[in-house]
Amino acid sequence: MRIDILTIFPKMFRAVLNESIIKRAQAKGKVKISVHDLRDFSDDVHRKVDDRPFGGGPGMVMRPEPIFSAVEYILSQRGYTHNNKSRCRRQSAGGKAQEAKRKAHIILLSPQGAKLNQGIAKRLIKKKHLILICGHYEGIDERIRRFLVDEEISIGDYVLTGGELPAMVIVDCIIRMIPGVLGEKKSLQFESFEGNLLEYPQYTRPAKYKGMRVPGVLLSGDHNKIEQWRKTQALKITRQRRPDLLPPQSS
Ligand code: SAH
Repeated sequence: MRIDILTIFPKMFRAVLNESIIKRAQAKGKVKISVHDLRDFSDDVHRKVDDRPFGGGPGMVMRPEPIFSAVEYILSQRGYTHNNKSRCRRQSAGGKAQEAKRKAHIILLSPQGAKLNQGIAKRLIKKKHLILICGHYEGIDERIRRFLVDEEISIGDYVLTGGELPAMVIVDCIIRMIPGVLGEKKSLQFESFEGNLLEYPQYTRPAKYKGMRVPGVLLSGDHNKIEQWRKTQALKITRQRRPDLLPPQSS
């Protein structure tokens, strides 16, 4: 998988991409991540990427040109035909062929997008190439959303200063699902949101800490009983904390 990130704050990504599991995934060749500074794609002498909104109003809006240019550059580097949606509409017949050639999936981080969940992340790991666009300021010129972007994703119902943290959240969430990235396959099978359940409680040594004991069943060595206990706990916790995850009849 290949991920290109477009941002005006590339340094923000250094720590996250160069530590722990994400670092190892890149070293193992499971994913190739490139962070691009949008200012490098500005045609302005001062490398400006924003401007005042037409019609007035507060704040600054990200200009279309650096973002379109950055996407065009990335696609041409990969040998893909660039085909923004407006062009595709204009050339109805040729548009389809071009659409087939366009393999990158372009995502805009936006509080107005679909809220990220495990299901969306699973769909995204099937893509070979993602381009993540991080907005800033008051947001981005609407033409980027309408004519360039395939999908908008939000990480929750709150507004952040920029799309950088949301992009890192998406990258982290999908990379750990790429086969071979996590040491044990089972870590993925039994974790929260799999099978509509939250994960069961986990304990480690010592068995007794400041008078607090680990549930006896976990020390019993009886794997059937342990499995049964975990299932019951997962269901109980999900009912208490996230009944919305359960199908109607079981909640
Ligand atoms: N004025 C806009 C918000 C702009 S926030 C509005 O009201 O919709 C600036 C940028 O931060 C956005 O362009 C987006 O890229 C990012 N951002 C903010 N909150 C986000 C969220 N919850 N999920 C994903 N991206 C977000």
